[in-house]
Amino acid sequence: GVNAAIMETAAKQIKVTKTTKSRIAEVDFNNLVFGKKYADHMLVADFDGKEWHSAEVLPFQHLSVSPSNAAWHYGQAIFEGIKAYKDQEGHPMIFRPYDNYERFNRSAERMGMPAIPEWLFIGGMSMLIDIDRDWVPTGEGCSLYLRPFMIAADEFIGVRPSDTYKFVIINSPSGAYFNKPIKLLVQDKYIRAFPGGVGYAKAAGNYGGAMYPTMQARKQGYDQILWVDGMEHKYLQECGTMNVFAIIGNKALTPDLTQGTILAGVTRASVMTLLEEIGLEVEERPVSIDELVAAWKSGTLREVFGTGTASSVAYVDQLDYKEHLIQLDTSRYEVGAEVIRRLDAIRTGKAADPHSWNYKI
Ligand code: PMP
Repeated sequence: GVNAAIMETAAKQIKVTKTTKSRIAEVDFNNLVFGKKYADHMLVADFDGKEWHSAEVLPFQHLSVSPSNAAWHYGQAIFEGIKAYKDQEGHPMIFRPYDNYERFNRSAERMGMPAIPEWLFIGGMSMLIDIDRDWVPTGEGCSLYLRPFMIAADEFIGVRPSDTYKFVIINSPSGAYFNKPIKLLVQDKYIRAFPGGVGYAKAAGNYGGAMYPTMQARKQGYDQILWVDGMEHKYLQECGTMNVFAIIGNKALTPDLTQGTILAGVTRASVMTLLEEIGLEVEERPVSIDELVAAWKSGTLREVFGTGTASSVAYVDQLDYKEHLIQLDTSRYEVGAEVIRRLDAIRTGKAADPHSWNYKI
């Protein structure tokens, strides 16, 4: 639960200005569309080159940004995606926020941006959820999606790291994600990330760069690209904006993170733990598309799925790779289904939380 010392610092450092007019009555909580509606309050803070200051929780509103804002030109922009749920008594809980906090600061370092102190990220987020607790939905599969982000703030179009930055958290209530099985394309033409690059960072440009290849794949009838390495074009990286798992016999395979080309998913880490608890042998190592094709041909490839905060677990029912077409019957996915069941039960307080993944507000 809440860290008292951190909350004390946060309460001292963060000014609170509450709205006089809640917009919550305008939201239909039975028909939530992802990313369209935002909770009443947001958090903003500024970095002046030395420290974070002017932190404030205030009514959700536009930011005023100069056309010469450095983030718009050179892409010093990073973000996170986290979900908050309510337990069975209606108390809000954030799922593994410290993992996202640490990843945020790893992204910041790679992009030459300042680290965020714990009182601001964890403390500020906790204050925000406390104030907007009514915005955390309780419906089946629903959650409050939390979006912390940081952008360069210098009004300067010379190419150099910005001196000033802005940190913001906005929150959007999101509905049950309809887990339609997805079709994946493996191709040689477009590469998401190289060793030494920024693949492991949750940097805005990674998403911008993936738009065009994904549009091309969509035109051909696929849902997402299964990204592979840029040298041999065969080692799996991620599927769309999810980490990837393959269940072969009693083994769960997922690509390792040592090349720095893959985002260290918080869902990935949770799913690895749950898979072990279910009794599978988890192998975190290079996984080639040839290995999946061979397993499929021999009948041992049981399941392929993606994992991420937005969709939890997304089943793959088709995988196209050159002359190979892997087809899987997702109605028979048992491992993925059990993982979702356990994850949902923990996140909503229906099951025990032995790993302390829930951060209670
Ligand atoms: N890979 C990428 C590229 C992503 O954007 C995400 C979503 N954050 C993931 C994987 C899954 O990470 P997580 O489980 O932390 O949401």
